[in-house]
Amino acid sequence: MKDRSGNHAIVLGGSIAGLLAARVLADAYPQVTVVDRDELVPGSEPRRGAPQGRHIHALLARGQQVLEQLFPGLTAELAAHGAPIGDALGDARLLFGGHRLSRAATGLVAVSASRPLLEDRVRNRVRTLRGVRFAPPSKVVGLRSSANRRRVTGVRVLRRSPGSAEEVLDADLVVDATGRGSRAPAWLEALGFDRPEEDRVRVDVGYATRRYLLSSDALDGDLACVNGPTPDQPRGGALTRLEGDVWMLTLFGLLGDHPPTDPSGFGAFARSLRFPDLHDAVRTAEPIGDPVAFRFPAHIRRRYERMRHFPEGFLVMGDAVCSFNPIYGQGMTVAALQALALRHHLRPGAGPRSRRVLRSIARVIDAPWELAVGADLALPGVKGRRSLKLRMASAYVNRLQIAAARDTTVAQAFVRVTGLVDRPEALLRPGIALRVMRTHVQPSGSGEAERQPRRRAAGATSGTALPQVGEGGEEQGEARAG
Ligand SMILES: Cc1cc2nc3c(=O)[nH]c(=O)nc-3n(C[C@H](O)[C@H](O)[C@H](O)COP(=O)(O)OP(=O)(O)OC[C@H]3O[C@@H](n4cnc5c(N)ncnc54)[C@H](O)[C@@H]3O)c2cc1C
Repeated sequence: MKDRSGNHAIVLGGSIAGLLAARVLADAYPQVTVVDRDELVPGSEPRRGAPQGRHIHALLARGQQVLEQLFPGLTAELAAHGAPIGDALGDARLLFGGHRLSRAATGLVAVSASRPLLEDRVRNRVRTLRGVRFAPPSKVVGLRSSANRRRVTGVRVLRRSPGSAEEVLDADLVVDATGRGSRAPAWLEALGFDRPEEDRVRVDVGYATRRYLLSSDALDGDLACVNGPTPDQPRGGALTRLEGDVWMLTLFGLLGDHPPTDPSGFGAFARSLRFPDLHDAVRTAEPIGDPVAFRFPAHIRRRYERMRHFPEGFLVMGDAVCSFNPIYGQGMTVAALQALALRHHLRPGAGPRSRRVLRSIARVIDAPWELAVGADLALPGVKGRRSLKLRMASAYVNRLQIAAARDTTVAQAFVRVTGLVDRPEALLRPGIALRVMRTHVQPSGSGEAERQPRRRAAGATSGTALPQVGEGGEEQGEARAG
């Protein structure tokens, strides 16, 4: 593997964040090399380096918009590969905070593709870009720097073939997109830099997912149903129709309340949910295989933008910077928004200034971080600082969700914010706030959940909290390391 050239960008990790980084880098660098330890072969099977592909992967509305911008026609291409397409609220049952959101079209597109299919189609598009190549499967083991250590000049890799020795790939820019388990903090330390501070919020989420063969009207024509957690029931799930009339049911529980993977325990967990929709839809369905599990201990945000010294020629993106509780479905959309942020800093012939890009990436992360962490802090068992502002925001969202169960305008506004299309402040606009304030709140529990004969809601409250706009998410972490 010889790679000595100018204007060469190397992307570490060929998953969603790495592919999207490669997409924008290809406009500015004549040569872009993607390095992944997996063999990234065409096809839509889950792969070893992205085990999350066995679980539901919602592409938020904003993510769909950005992917379409980066790869025109991608939505139609996914549809041609069998992915059902619909409206983000008009075709989805959203059961949030113990309330069944009212239904209306939003004009926001929901693409119901499996994660492997989505990644395969994106990778296929990236493969065809001029100057982009995929290196043979190789593990990245470290960085190479200039003699004064101010600039990263390449990466050290080990090919995944017997008897291979460490090699160096030279580059003008190295982008780490190796995911949550990124070793960038250690690589930087080895070059004499500090490690980044880390915000962590422990949520101890367990996933279990099973696939089913079902007819396309299993949810009366809806594409998906999402049953969010509530403080009194920190568990939930989602059922979604994927390509090929295969349906995927993911169940999850926070704070150690994990769904079992034995079929009867899995079914009992589905039956225990506040709303019967998920269980009813699959009760008599033919399963494909047994449930598979995934554990997610904590939200992690690495504060590279706060480091006093950071080398030029190096960036960190995607889950390697921030990995969110997956139940909010934000990761791929935030990776897409980070790619747009990077593109903003790219000029032909001049490399981006690392610290500026890292600051832009941090700004992209702020709102989704606060949404996800704020929502989790509504659960009493999640440790973290609950400022007055956060508590007020949480109370507002409780009320907003009650309003959204009756008022389609409020439901639409809420879906735009949780889909990362609008900023959270949109929910405070007078047109929405007045509707929320006019909502009559019953003393204990309310909404559709109470009308469900089988599982009565008690004290249903928020599963989503408004972010503390302007506070930058500080102090929300359970622990920090620096
Ligand atoms: C259970 C679960 C469910 C999720 N659900 C959703 C969802 O519904 N919606 C959503 O938007 N997001 C979801 N996410 C998050 C989403 O998967 C990620 O945000 C998204 O894949 C972007 O991550 P990434 O590309 O940064 O890293 P990853 O997807 O983790 O990819 C990292 C890549 O780096 C490679 N790699 C790692 N280390 C090395 C190394 N040393 N050398 C070479 N290669 C290496 C790996 O092989 C892999 O290809 C979920 C995550 C999990 C865990």
